[in-house]
Amino acid sequence: MRIKVAYCILTSCTGCKISFLDMHEKILDVLEKIDIVYSQMIQDHREVPECDLIFVEGSISTDEDYKEALELRKKAKYLVAVGACACFGGIPAMRNFYSTDEILDSTYSQKKGRYTGPNELLPKVKSLSSVIDVDFEIPGCPPLPENFIEVIDNYPNFDNIKLPTKTLCVECDLKKEKLLSPIREFTSLKINDPYEVDDTDMCFLERGVLCMGIATRSGCGGRCVGMQVPCRGCFGPPPQEGSEDQGAGMISAVASILPTGRLIAKEDILGLVYRYSLSMITNLQIKRTNEGGNKDE
Ligand code: SF4
Ligand code: SF4
Ligand code: SF4
Repeated sequence: MRIKVAYCILTSCTGCKISFLDMHEKILDVLEKIDIVYSQMIQDHREVPECDLIFVEGSISTDEDYKEALELRKKAKYLVAVGACACFGGIPAMRNFYSTDEILDSTYSQKKGRYTGPNELLPKVKSLSSVIDVDFEIPGCPPLPENFIEVIDNYPNFDNIKLPTKTLCVECDLKKEKLLSPIREFTSLKINDPYEVDDTDMCFLERGVLCMGIATRSGCGGRCVGMQVPCRGCFGPPPQEGSEDQGAGMISAVASILPTGRLIAKEDILGLVYRYSLSMITNLQIKRTNEGGNKDE
């Protein structure tokens, strides 16, 4: 019997769904195994029916998202969070640096009350698993199409899927020299922006460029670093207990190999290290000023 599948979207850019559709010809095999019973953009169904498997993309950012997440949980035998937004808050959770008033003021011409959208913004953006039970998480912004296929092939035994758990540096082909040295020394005396360094086969950190691979879960195959673009952390922190705070993991990992003073002075360092996973650290009280500086409270 085919698996009845729904694909639902909360606060998101719908990029994960494009990745779902990006299976190319493999989608023909997948469609032998599933019936898509609900999916905006693919079909014109108004209501999500009860089904075997619901993929949920996007973070919980509004009261409507919150209610919908609870409803979807009731309708799904199994529910899978898809992408960085659903798994760790993702890009929408970057507003957690600010209060809702600050966000509305800055977005709507500095005038309070101009927002006339249908939904109330929640004070903080949340990941899916912080609100409902989630049976499996597919990380990434966007996720890999192969991971959707693995979920469908292994339904409902998701424990059989073994996503990589080490840091991205393990699967990155760029050369590490000082990074692997037992004697700690600075890999670079300067912190560079990516455009300031030449393309080489050396690790970005050894070129003085901040690369989140050192605090990011492997599994993407080094999509960005392989194209001479430093990792920005979209697979989230490695899943080991105690590693949830990806930003702190990054700062502590690079503090002994890059000049710390320059690191702290780096513009928008918090925006860099928490780009995808800010909602995972609900207890951390960080505020950024509108001028882009960082301020701990
Ligand atoms: S994880 Fe990335 S691609 Fe997916 S909805 Fe969020 S921003 Fe878009
Ligand atoms: S820090 Fe970045 S460039 Fe260096 S090994 Fe890790 S993933 Fe590769
Ligand atoms: S290299 Fe980093 S930012 Fe790029 S896809 Fe992989 S985890 Fe995401």
